[in-house]
Formats: sequence, structure tokens, C-alpha cells
Amino acid sequence: MPRLHLQRRRWPLALLFVHTHAAAQVPAKPTAEPVSNAARALHEQLLTLDTHLDTPANLAVLGWNIGDRHDASRDGSQVDLPRLVQGGLDGGFWAIYTPQGPRTPAGDRAARDSALTRALAIREMVAANPKSFELALRADDATAIAARHKRVVFLSIENAYPLEADLSLLETFYKLGVRLTGLAHFSNNDLADSATDPKGPEWQGLSEKGRSFVAEANRLGIVLDASHASDQVLDQLIALSKTPVLLSHSGVKAVFNHPRNIDDQRLRALAASGGVIQINFLSDYLIATPKIPEREAALSALFQGSRKPGLTLVQREALIARKHEIDRTWPVPRATFEDAIAHLLHAIQVAGIDHVGIGADLDGGGGVSGFEDSRDYPRITARLLRAGYSRDDIQKVWSGNVLRVLRAAEAYAAGLAAQSTVVTSGAPTASH
Ligand SMILES: [Zn+2]
Repeated sequence: MPRLHLQRRRWPLALLFVHTHAAAQVPAKPTAEPVSNAARALHEQLLTLDTHLDTPANLAVLGWNIGDRHDASRDGSQVDLPRLVQGGLDGGFWAIYTPQGPRTPAGDRAARDSALTRALAIREMVAANPKSFELALRADDATAIAARHKRVVFLSIENAYPLEADLSLLETFYKLGVRLTGLAHFSNNDLADSATDPKGPEWQGLSEKGRSFVAEANRLGIVLDASHASDQVLDQLIALSKTPVLLSHSGVKAVFNHPRNIDDQRLRALAASGGVIQINFLSDYLIATPKIPEREAALSALFQGSRKPGLTLVQREALIARKHEIDRTWPVPRATFEDAIAHLLHAIQVAGIDHVGIGADLDGGGGVSGFEDSRDYPRITARLLRAGYSRDDIQKVWSGNVLRVLRAAEAYAAGLAAQSTVVTSGAPTASH
């Protein structure tokens, strides 16, 4: 059955997927209640992290500045500093996303260069706004940075294709700040199978190189992210990784059967191994949406016209206007806030409150009716309160769980490093 959804592509310009209020789509009844003062106050007190912010892609748009307030209905962007502050989000994992390209020496080099450039762009964002953002390199940094009223910037890799030709680059990315890495994206690569490759599995999970990648991530203290990878990859990561695995932005099959979502048995296995699932707010993964060939063709044509590098904000706004036209001409149902909450509450019920968090995929296609941009994060806190969860429970969902996983990765790497120091200092050495 999941085959139905395998053809879905992700345009490198993530914004093309953003459904905005201005679009006259199938009207959804308002599902998000106003946030009470008490819920808002609690939300502000908690350390809130989203593990999948695709915002770094916007840093490359000429004239778009993270410090300015933007309007999703105009330029498609959902996260910027003013809206982060308004939504009380302390920060999260800022993704170095690389679309899967040709698995050739030239393709690998282009992907490597693109990912390095993206990592530097995130660091430049921090360097240019030192009063507003701070790089987080350890789990404990997050609380300290939030206490300084700055936004927490962990770096993550979405698709390790840029590293497939040279695994030693993982240490380079670690030094640039990366603390979380996925393996594949929409298609299989040299490391692992994707959940959505129309050709089906190539490696039956991880390749030999993928296994080396896992060992290297463990050695460095980088958390492994199984979102977008096949179910077999998740199983093998749970078995192979020395530290718990994260799904940085995923949903649950019990609510909507899609290859990007995971089944209850795997949810339990993930939890039993100490891992965590962070719930995605991307409509196509939350509810069934019909594929209208004309709509898909129009989106594809729109995307073809937007491929050129050096896109300006004005050009981007024109693309979004065209996207609204497409939405009006061929409307498709859009998931609601309650649809996303159904995934969240089911995951908590099956995996337990210690194994669930938030990875809404804003600026990467995320956003549902009633949860349009980063101003809407308090709605999640309010909804969990209404569902009867305590302050401690909600804190776990917002950051406690993911930081526990990161601390485990740090501890394992530190243990290995200490061991090798003992071995080195204990052995007779010729040099020094
Ligand atoms: Zn993604």
C-alpha cells in the first residue's frame, strides 16, 4: 500500500511545499484553540527545541534575513528571529539538507561542497547575530544559551550523501558543530536505503559503508537520525549503534500508513533501546492526500523554473504567488493541527512520554492548518496540557528526551576517548 506515496518528490526549494493561509485550499475547520495565559506562561518557562528546522535553506535566498519578520503567505518562510521569539521556541537542530543527486565522483563532490557551504551559512548566521543566536556543541549548552535569552543552534545533517565518498568528513562536520546525522533522504545512497525510493531497497538496510558511518558517528558522539531511512535501516541502527537513535521528524503508521512513518512494534523497540521519535507536522505524512497529475505537473514546472542559484527574495515571492495559484486551481486536503496531534499522542501512548518529542519540519514542508509557522509552537504546549500531561512530561517532549539521547552519545564518545588516552599513555612510545 505505501507504494501509492512513493512517487512524491521534494523540491529542493522546500518552500514550494508550504501550504499557506492565503491559499484557497479545501477549507479546514479551525482546530487549534487559543492558547491560555497559563499555557503560554508554562511554554515560556520550558526549554523548547525542535529537532528539524529546515530554515538554513532560506539563508541562501538573496535579500532574506533571519533577523527580519517575514510572512509565510508572501515568501513561504516559517521561521525567523521575530517569529521564533513570539513562538517561544528556544531553538533546535538546524539542518544541513542536501537533495540526493547522482552517486558519481562529480555528484559526491558537488554535494560535499554544498553541505560545507550550508554548514558555514548556519555558522555565519550565528556569527552575524551574536546577541540572538549561539552555537550549541553539548547537550548542557542548550539550557545555558536559553538562559542568556538566545536561540540554541545545534547543527544536523539531513542526508549523508555529501559524505559518502569520504567518511573522514564526518569529523570535519563534527568540528563544524554537527551533533545529529541522518543517512539517506528520498532515495537510496551509498550508505543506506531510503523509506521512499521507488526502486525499493538496495542494501536491505545499511551498506557496509553505512555500518562504518554508524561506528564513526558513535566514536565522535554524533546522534544517528533514522528519519527518511527505511524500516530495515531503523532496525539495524537500533541493533548496531552504541547509543540511542533519534527519528528527528517522523510520524506513526497507526495513524497514517506512509513509508515515512513507523509502526507500533518499531516504536516500542525504539523506546526499549532508549531512542526517541520527534513528531513531524508535514501534511502529506499525516493524512492521505490524493495526487492530482495536473497539480503535480504544475508544481514540477514551477520547480524547474526555480532551480537557478542566487534566487532573490522578489523571485521567491513570485514563486510563492504562483504556488498559491496552483493551490487554488487544484486544491488538495490539508492536515490540521489535530491530525498532527493524533500522531503525537499515539506515539506517547505507545512509546511512552520519555521517548517522544517535536520535529515539525518548518521551512521543509511542515506546517498544517492551525500550525502555520514558528509563532504557533505554544499551541503544542497548550494541547499537551489539555491532554492531561504534567509540566515535567511536557518538558521531556520539548527537549528533555532529545538531550538525554545527545548526552548518551557524548558519554559514549568521551568513554572511548578516555580509553584510548589510557592505552596511549600506558604504551611505550618512540616519539614526543
Ligand atoms: Zn525531511
